[in-house]
Amino acid sequence: MAETPLQRLDALAAQAMAKPRETLQALMELAPAGLPDEDLRRARVRGLARVYSGEAEGLVELLQAQDEAEQRPELPARLRFDLLRTLSIAHAQMGLLNEALDWANRALEAARASGDAGAEAEGLLSCGVALSRSGQPERGIALYEQAHALFMAQGLPRLALSALNNMGINLKNLGRPDQALARYEQALALAEQTGLQELAAVLRTNLPEPLAQLGRLAEARRVGEASAAEMARQAHRPGELSAQLALGGVLQEAGEPEAAHRALMRALDLARQLGDRIQGRRAHQMLGQLHRAAGRYREALEHVEAAHEAERQQFNEESERRLRTLQLQTEVLAAQSDAQQARLRSLELERAKAELQSLNERLLAADREKSRLLACLAEESRTDALTGLPNRRRLDERLVEEWQRPRSALSLAVLDVDHFKQINDRWGHGLGDRVLQQLGQLLAQQASMFAARLGGEEFCLLWVDAEPAAARRACEALRQAVAALPWAALHAELAAVTVSIGLAERAEAPANPQALLTLADERLYAAKRGGRNRVV
Ligand code: GH3
Ligand code: MG
Ligand code: MG
Repeated sequence: MAETPLQRLDALAAQAMAKPRETLQALMELAPAGLPDEDLRRARVRGLARVYSGEAEGLVELLQAQDEAEQRPELPARLRFDLLRTLSIAHAQMGLLNEALDWANRALEAARASGDAGAEAEGLLSCGVALSRSGQPERGIALYEQAHALFMAQGLPRLALSALNNMGINLKNLGRPDQALARYEQALALAEQTGLQELAAVLRTNLPEPLAQLGRLAEARRVGEASAAEMARQAHRPGELSAQLALGGVLQEAGEPEAAHRALMRALDLARQLGDRIQGRRAHQMLGQLHRAAGRYREALEHVEAAHEAERQQFNEESERRLRTLQLQTEVLAAQSDAQQARLRSLELERAKAELQSLNERLLAADREKSRLLACLAEESRTDALTGLPNRRRLDERLVEEWQRPRSALSLAVLDVDHFKQINDRWGHGLGDRVLQQLGQLLAQQASMFAARLGGEEFCLLWVDAEPAAARRACEALRQAVAALPWAALHAELAAVTVSIGLAERAEAPANPQALLTLADERLYAAKRGGRNRVV
């Protein structure tokens, strides 16, 4: 079956640590496949491969991918786990072991939360690596045991193998070659049983060292020579390197300095080719011992110095890399916190905006209501409640307005009900009110003029742009119309209601509206004095 794009990416992830540069190259050549979360899947492989090819920026890429992953709630649990675990592996590779342990713990939690037993075992494995490398091999071994059992139960022998192999390394470092050998052999047997032949050959390179430590020199030598030859045949240079180193040690102990020298010189050559300073240093150290034992002090000194130089360089490189990593980490954290703050800010901003908008809407509604109420109030405050006519205030405004218009011929009359007090007295205040209302109705119907109630039973009439004679005629017509109203409908005994009117025009009192009003008022009193029911 052809490999799917997803399987291809998984395969690249699996080889990223062993072949980082090839992985980066292959990843570049891999066309985008439109997979879900392809960006994160690629970032994971690329970041890991970059870290393993010595680029600290790979770690930044992984941290950014993780930050992005946290923004995607729909992300598959497995991918989430893979990212967390990859961060642990990458931190461990950079020598940041506390962080490696933190990320491994997060990966383990994520695996447990999703109920994926295979992932849980891988999480345990990562925790074990971080613990072992930070000087807690016993705890590391305990986790490897758990991981091994889980991998076996899940039918994942390749991963079970790496748990066994890691146990062996820790046991060897703890100075327990017998236990180390048992784990290595268990791993080897598992590889052979499950048909992982190439892996089995690599695992065999582990055996000579503990065998030699246990004094089983002949066996150690046989296995060492066989596995060195097998690794050379496979052109597996890292495998051959560790095999030759182990063999060199075994041969030296077996009292074969020349063969040991050959093996160690081959190891030194391989270490140079691979740029493996750690193994190169070991080769120099062992060669130094070999020469000293043979009394060749000058050669011994050269190797010891080379070993020191390699150690110094390794130390410098490592501390430089750690420094650079820490610096990058700080930058990433700063960037993450900036991004987080920006997200928070924009969230807050949106909420504030929504609040402001609703507030604004409410404010507008309130404002409209206020305007409406104000308009009503203004209208009310300028209207007479009893008759519905404009009141004194409105009249004053209108008078000022008209006064300011240069064109206006302006006539003004004051109208007063005759003997109104008697109407009130005889038929009650209520009837008096109805008389005023009736009168108000009549006045409101007059289109030619503006009428307002001044107060009590007094009204004011205003003609704009009308000839004084026309105003006089209108007053007279009004007086007659009042007298002709069917007053008896209000009360049978109310035979008649009459009004007196005083009229004046602007030209007669040009000073101001008040003067005109006063003049009209004076004429009203003249009308009263003259016998009422008349226009003056
Ligand atoms: P004149 O012919 O001289 O104008 O005599 P009059 O009785 O009409 O004048 P006067 O000023 O003596 O009386 C006016 C009366 O109008 C006094 C007051 O009680 C009454 N009045 C004032 N406002 C109202 C009102 O809103 N309703 C009623 N029913 N009566 C009012
Ligand atoms: Mg009056
Ligand atoms: Mg009156």
